[in-house]
Amino acid sequence: MSNPLSATILGAGLLGRLLGVALVRAGWQVELREQAPDPEHAGGAARVAAAMLAPLAESAVTEPNVVAMGLYALPRWQALCASLPRPVFFQREGTLILWHRQDAREAHRFEALLRATAARLGSLPEPQPLHAEQLAQCEPAVAGRFAQALYLPGEGQLDGRAMLEALLAELHAHGAVVRWGAASTLADAMAASHRPGHWVFDCRGLGAQAEWPADGAAGSGPLRGVRGEVVRLYAPDVTLQRPTRLLHPRYPIYIAPKERHVFVIGATEIEADDRSPASVRSTLELLSAAYAVHPGFAEARILELNTECRPTLPDNLPAVRVRAPRVVQLNGLYRHGYLVAPAVCDAVLQYVLEGHTALAQQLGLTFVTPETLTA
Ligand SMILES: Cc1cc2nc3c(=O)[nH]c(=O)nc-3n(C[C@H](O)[C@H](O)[C@H](O)COP(=O)(O)OP(=O)(O)OC[C@H]3O[C@@H](n4cnc5c(N)ncnc54)[C@H](O)[C@@H]3O)c2cc1C
Repeated sequence: MSNPLSATILGAGLLGRLLGVALVRAGWQVELREQAPDPEHAGGAARVAAAMLAPLAESAVTEPNVVAMGLYALPRWQALCASLPRPVFFQREGTLILWHRQDAREAHRFEALLRATAARLGSLPEPQPLHAEQLAQCEPAVAGRFAQALYLPGEGQLDGRAMLEALLAELHAHGAVVRWGAASTLADAMAASHRPGHWVFDCRGLGAQAEWPADGAAGSGPLRGVRGEVVRLYAPDVTLQRPTRLLHPRYPIYIAPKERHVFVIGATEIEADDRSPASVRSTLELLSAAYAVHPGFAEARILELNTECRPTLPDNLPAVRVRAPRVVQLNGLYRHGYLVAPAVCDAVLQYVLEGHTALAQQLGLTFVTPETLTA
């Protein structure tokens, strides 16, 4: 292969920054074009996400290939955090699953789904049932309020915003150019791809909606938004040590404890391309479920109440499409963006640098190249 050394990346959200850092570290000249006016407002879905890295918990609601991508990604995130000059909160203390006695049927259903995926993949850690005393040892803050729980070992989370900032600092440190307030179309950027050895990567998430066709091929559109509402709280009286999910037939929630008693509580999942402010109903449901997990949330302070839409393809799975020579679209990360992004990026890098898609095939990532389209 020739040795391509420059790229335009559309979108400085999660995928754009992650891919940009990999490329600048490999010696490429990179320009990112981001529609947001400044770093504070950039990041789309990645800015509001809880950034949980929970392949086992997610296996109850997603396909085994997403779980496989998540398992691949966990050590990749760990290695990336260790290599960044500024610290980013990252932990692998597992996930705790709780339910109220009346929702035991929901818990059985959840556990059965986890075990089915574990049996299919063969490489997932087993969920560990905890009785009340074991739960009190594992997570003392909820002792006495729940009779049993499930512990999912090895799962992780990170501070998404700190990660976005650290990636941006790394991009700058390697001389990448980031253009803010630079809303772009794929057509604009494709003109640049005619320069020898220049690549274009479209990482605009939902901003790429108009250019993600519904053509019936694998990974085709339409790309849609799935609305999520999340609350960010400061709760000095709460000391959860790991992401905790409350199973509930109507409003399941998660509580992701970040550093310094900040908690991200989410998230609703509504089939709507609607970024209007959070509804009263959603806010009540999220906050009362959090209060049911720990009464210390009563005195918490609401730092933010955010709404964003998850970029989602019809099959709810991520996909990569090589639209034209050296023009690659990455999208459809839905509710698993942090979980799968390192796998998606590595698969794209392998295609760009080595000219094949073995990793995508291994992980079951839809990766459409001109060759697969004509095959
Ligand atoms: C409420 C919520 C909670 C979530 N929680 C989790 C979680 O716990 N774990 C997990 O793994 N995932 C989670 N996700 C999913 C994750 O955030 C997304 O899948 C991920 O951010 C998608 O990454 P992306 O890079 O494709 O898009 P984004 O992160 O949305 O980035 C797209 C970027 O492109 C820019 N852009 C858009 N249009 C243009 C244009 N025309 N020109 C230039 N730039 C443009 C945007 O401003 C943005 O900066 C959550 C999402 C939401 C909404």
